[in-house]
Amino acid sequence: MTKPMDEMTWQEVEPGGVISEPGCASCYHTGTWRSEKPVYNPDKCIRCQRCFIMCPDASIKPDFESNCMVWDYDYCKGCGICAYECPVGAIEMVQEDE
Ligand code: SF4
Ligand code: SF4
Repeated sequence: MTKPMDEMTWQEVEPGGVISEPGCASCYHTGTWRSEKPVYNPDKCIRCQRCFIMCPDASIKPDFESNCMVWDYDYCKGCGICAYECPVGAIEMVQEDE
């Protein structure tokens, strides 16, 4: 049986998650476990780029050719921060299977 934490020495604590090589986050596609996804409405968008700044996964980028924001759904985990932060409601979160 495992000892209570307050009775363990630091040598007995099991190692936690180990990042074995730099840059491995790019191999982990967080979009695979998303339950909701952001849907972008370019007609409402005022190109403030707030969503680009706030996305914790760098899944949104401005596309200067089309003058629209673009999403990389491989890394979008569906947290909804972009939709929450958009000042004009140009991003709507929908169920992944819709
Ligand atoms: S839902 Fe979250 S992870 Fe996905 S684009 Fe918006 S802020 Fe980024
Ligand atoms: S936060 Fe909203 S208005 Fe601003 S660039 Fe993103 S989608 Fe467009």
